[in-house]
Amino acid sequence: MIAPYESAAARFEVDVPPPPDGTTRARTGRLTLTHGVVETPQFMPVGTNATVKALSPEDIRDTGATIILSNTYHLYLRPGHERIQRLGGLHRFMDWDGPILTDSGGFQVVSLGDMRVVDEDGVTFRSHIDGSVHRFTPEHAIAVQQALGSDVAVAFDQPVFPSSPVAVVADATERTHRWAERSLAAHTRTDQALFGIVQGGLDPELRAASTRFISAMPFDGICIGGLAGDETPEERDAALDVAVPLLDDDPRPRYLMGLGSPADLLEAVHRGVDLFDSVLPARVARNGQLWVPGGRLNIRNRSFLDDPEPVQADCPCLLCRRFSRAYLAHLFRAKELLAYRLATCHNLTFTLDFMARVRASIQAGSFSADMPSFRSRAGRISRGEVAEQSA
Ligand SMILES: [Zn+2]
Repeated sequence: MIAPYESAAARFEVDVPPPPDGTTRARTGRLTLTHGVVETPQFMPVGTNATVKALSPEDIRDTGATIILSNTYHLYLRPGHERIQRLGGLHRFMDWDGPILTDSGGFQVVSLGDMRVVDEDGVTFRSHIDGSVHRFTPEHAIAVQQALGSDVAVAFDQPVFPSSPVAVVADATERTHRWAERSLAAHTRTDQALFGIVQGGLDPELRAASTRFISAMPFDGICIGGLAGDETPEERDAALDVAVPLLDDDPRPRYLMGLGSPADLLEAVHRGVDLFDSVLPARVARNGQLWVPGGRLNIRNRSFLDDPEPVQADCPCLLCRRFSRAYLAHLFRAKELLAYRLATCHNLTFTLDFMARVRASIQAGSFSADMPSFRSRAGRISRGEVAEQSA
């Protein structure tokens, strides 16, 4: 049993460690942050612009969410981190009193493609809003997150597509390590945890070296970056099977950035990951794709216009408690705004309920035995499949 991790801004304790028989690395834990406690494994809904699209803070709570993610890049550009700081910080600004994790902006900045230039000191980029020129360095990314006042800040990194040539991955991974050191040195807020990011792409040696490098540093948690991109599920599993065993004796939480379909979450929990975030459940909800046990409903299908049943009979969400499939199908066809709120409430509730079931199964010691039924409940909605569907 590993002793709990404790710093001024974070405490992490593994409640139920993986079984000694090696059948799974799944574990449950409890992450205590400045604004509350997060049971792990846990999924974080994404509030890009200081709002989980279409939901009020009460709606977010009702989905079962205990922690949300917000995007440093977006809030820096609009309305500006200094403005949010003057208005009392991000929690006050959006009236969410639970834990918030901010990403570092690295992913958004580096994803801008032709609109950005990476050098050793940082990244110069054009705003996707008005084309104005901006610059992020590790020090600036930390300053923005300190101004926002999130519970967890994340070191500035240079992510690359998993399929990039090894030389490109190696260069970005080494730069990420240098930026991790600068991020740590720049971070001074004692009520805010700081997570470091492992890169290394799909190359086992680079992934292992990055895991060792980042985990040797005094971060409060370990992000596994550079996945949930264009890799196959098998490639992702292989990368996790390189990184996570190196963290077996590490007391800190592990966070796989950007993963969000129940089928993908399940496999990553099985491989020892504690935290996740993704826009996926909410994004596909706004397209009319409702996740239910065993698969999904495309509520835009004509057949639902006469269906008096709820989307999912045993679901406690706002949509399923009060409205029929017919009503939601009508709202989508009429492009009524309530459609987006109700569908988002449902998909986030489904995802967070799925994670709660996974935690209960790990705690009961039956996770390995329960995997087939979880796979069936998840409906094998893989990330690629969803991307194709909503394209
Ligand atoms: Zn529901």
